[in-house]
Amino acid sequence: MAKNIGITKGSKKERQLTTLGKLYIPEVIKGLAYTLRQMFRPKVTIRYPEQKPELGPEFRGRPVLVKEHDKERCVACGLCARACPPFAISMQAAEVESDDPKERYPETFEIDMLRCIYCGYCEEVCPEEAIVMSPHYDFNFKTREDAIHKKDRLLVDKEDVKDRLEFLEKRRNPNFGEVYDFDPKNNIHTLRNRDEVMGE
Ligand code: SF4
Ligand code: SF4
Repeated sequence: MAKNIGITKGSKKERQLTTLGKLYIPEVIKGLAYTLRQMFRPKVTIRYPEQKPELGPEFRGRPVLVKEHDKERCVACGLCARACPPFAISMQAAEVESDDPKERYPETFEIDMLRCIYCGYCEEVCPEEAIVMSPHYDFNFKTREDAIHKKDRLLVDKEDVKDRLEFLEKRRNPNFGEVYDFDPKNNIHTLRNRDEVMGE
């Protein structure tokens, strides 16, 4: 016995197909016409990996550590590791032995890229703009050990993430200088700001 699917045979709701409809010819022609139209429209796809997409500074690729004057900006405060939802970041802080006012640096710093979800929280909380989301997305690994990015792979020159740093600067200070006329020396929050403002 045929299964009752809600429409009784012969009822007004039943769709009546013509002979052409029963052969599906009009629908096939409509489908072919749609395909033909699309062939002459501008393409939205690219031939990756031969062609690379053009990504704006808002793109969040793999997180990296910013290197400035041949050393990392990071002061090993641990905020990024605390904010990271999947606990992808781990680090070991060490004290700086010279007179540098930066008292600590990360002796080891690791990001497990099997855990990273590219959320950008580490970048959001970092007081030094020392960890940023880079435009790098094209990387792979064959083992779990390969997936753990250490300092040698994380450190990138400031110039390489210039666009992202400028994007962050604009986004964080949309009204900078428009509302208050303040002395920049009274608005020093980080070692980086101090160096820029005081010219050290
Ligand atoms: S992007 Fe998100 S998941 Fe990845 S390291 Fe930063 S905080 Fe963790
Ligand atoms: S939040 Fe920034 S300064 Fe602090 S440990 Fe992370 S990268 Fe370093």
